[in-house]
Amino acid sequence: MDKVSYNDLFTKVNTYIHNPFELERIKRAYLLAEEKHRGQFRKSGGPYICHPLHVAIILAELHVGPDTIIAGLLHDCIEDTNTTHEEIEAQFGKDVADMVDGVTKLTKMKFSSLEQKQAENHQKMLLAMGKDIRVIVVKLADRLHNLRTMDSQSPEKRERICRETLEIYAPLAHRLGMFKIKAELEDRSLRYTNPEKYKEISADINENKSARLGNIEHIIEQIKEILTEENIKDFSIKGRVKNIFSIYKKMTNQHKDFEEIYDVLAIRIIVDTIDNCYRVLGLIHAYYTPVPKRFKDYIAVPKPNLYQSLHTTVISSSGLTFEVQIRTEEMDKVAELGIAAHWAYKENLAYSKEKEQFEIAQKLKWYADLLQFNEEDADDSDAKTFVDSVRKDILTTSVYVYTPTGDVIDLPKGATPLDLAYKIHTQLGNTIVGAIVNKHIVSLNYELQNGDIVSIRTNKNSAGPTTNWLKIAKTSHARHKIKAFLNKQNRDVLLAAGKKLVEEEFQANKVFSYELKEDFAKENFGKNNITSLDDLYVDIGKGIISEKTVVAKYIGTKKIDSEEIMRKSIEKTNKMISTNSETGVVVEGLNNPQIKLAVCCCPIPGDKIVGYVTKGSGIVVHHENCKNLESLDKNRLLNLRWATDIKRKYPVSLRITAMQNVQLLGEIMNVLSSLNVQTSSLNVKNNLNLETIIKIKILVANTVELDKVIANLNKITAISDIHRENI
Ligand code: MN
Repeated sequence: MDKVSYNDLFTKVNTYIHNPFELERIKRAYLLAEEKHRGQFRKSGGPYICHPLHVAIILAELHVGPDTIIAGLLHDCIEDTNTTHEEIEAQFGKDVADMVDGVTKLTKMKFSSLEQKQAENHQKMLLAMGKDIRVIVVKLADRLHNLRTMDSQSPEKRERICRETLEIYAPLAHRLGMFKIKAELEDRSLRYTNPEKYKEISADINENKSARLGNIEHIIEQIKEILTEENIKDFSIKGRVKNIFSIYKKMTNQHKDFEEIYDVLAIRIIVDTIDNCYRVLGLIHAYYTPVPKRFKDYIAVPKPNLYQSLHTTVISSSGLTFEVQIRTEEMDKVAELGIAAHWAYKENLAYSKEKEQFEIAQKLKWYADLLQFNEEDADDSDAKTFVDSVRKDILTTSVYVYTPTGDVIDLPKGATPLDLAYKIHTQLGNTIVGAIVNKHIVSLNYELQNGDIVSIRTNKNSAGPTTNWLKIAKTSHARHKIKAFLNKQNRDVLLAAGKKLVEEEFQANKVFSYELKEDFAKENFGKNNITSLDDLYVDIGKGIISEKTVVAKYIGTKKIDSEEIMRKSIEKTNKMISTNSETGVVVEGLNNPQIKLAVCCCPIPGDKIVGYVTKGSGIVVHHENCKNLESLDKNRLLNLRWATDIKRKYPVSLRITAMQNVQLLGEIMNVLSSLNVQTSSLNVKNNLNLETIIKIKILVANTVELDKVIANLNKITAISDIHRENI
């Protein structure tokens, strides 16, 4: 079944390589590989040479140069036969020998685990690929043929290989824009890593295939007519179904059913010029209804892997939704073959590896990043960390954003302005104080979106990175730089500063004899990654941990543990509400109706109120401006008023936004207790913008009392906003 001969390769190669000298070299490489692998067999049974031959054929289909074909033929020689680097170099030159070496696994080293072995091999390959991009092209062809002949492998090995393919090789193919190979790698891998889903989706695709294809044929005919009528010549139209893996990914990432994915079907229109791409787009939008927000112009802004096309999703008059991709012939080639199309072999043109490497780094920003990565990180980190960082920063789905000067910058999905700043320049990262995205100020943890225009705000006097930033930064690069900054701060200076702050705080609390021990630091601050007393002082010095918290923890809880006091008062007040549950709301014309106060807006006397007549649980009283009223049936609303002689207190929910501050809660409690106001529930959350959001429920008699409470709370300087929930 796997029958293949040198002639098959020759036929393919000879379509674009005619130079007799090169053809002779390729033939010699074949003869060498055949001789070396003689007597070896594939798991599937055939002679081993079939594998390198198939790999070379896959490469020839990409129109790679002679050296790459030769490397494909010899790719398993060093690993599986007695052939040496020197031998290959002597016969075929250094480039070929280095390429073969780049795809050769490490065998002489001892590994502590399979995982470590895999990481070391990936690192080796990524480094080799940084020196010569053709290494990865050979590796992808090798992997593709292995997947095509996967059936003869054991289930464990199959699963491992497929998982590795999805984690490393398919993303690399994607980054190189080699969509045809990427799609095949993905679909074949999914078949073994998730066989049920694979079957399910292919069944779904096949189920309505004829109906769907019928529809698409019809639409293609329509579009042909429209274009012809508008005098657009030289176009071709294809219908296509998305590859199984990308449907699978959409279903899992967006939690959608098969039916909800509407770009399963796509129509591709290929025209002769860029002008015509836009003209055709206009015609498509005039004829069909575009789905909002689905139009993408990858011609003006190519994807980082050089992909160019116009994308839009439209609905036909019969209600069919489909995606339309419009591009030129050249763009279509790049879309299928990626860099292979850009750097296809050109006869009679001297090849220079250095020139090609340089051009690729210019065109593919991520490749330049990889080169930089290799320089910076390869030495000082172990293989696993290195490979993880490459995967995370370079191979994951990316977002791209613009600088105000129009430069496109490519970042992993989930990246923040911090990541961007560090990517541009370390100094920019270290002095960042904020960012402006599309003219709006955003926080440092804002998740960047495709197409955002981002300008970084800096301040020379900024205190620089804190450990908090490590929680915000997504890329290994930014985290690396932040850690470097923090470590560079003089530890002794910070330690002394921390000690001094603690001493002053003890004195302020009139404690003149104290002894902080190692255990105290570990027990109380272990969750802040504190492992010694010195660590604690350093973090106090950096301002990460407050000396007030430390001293309060040491002294005990008498004064500052306001949460405890609060809990007790909450228990008390909850009892009080249950013994006095009259609402104080007057409903005219009804005898003893069942009334409840809405818990969303918590109306209190003085508020304008309305009643909502529910089905079955009486009347619920809302604040006139309650947000929930908008969605309720207006016909069921009732005018209500408060009684005049109310004695009870009512719960009301406040949402307080404040700067993070250790004393904040204590100050709020002081204000409340001085006004004799009880609290019935409390919820405190800190966010990454160094803000604290406090949701507090207090008991008041009416709006007059509430206004007084709010006015007094507003005197606390850390508080920036107070408002009632849902109003
Ligand atoms: Mn192989």
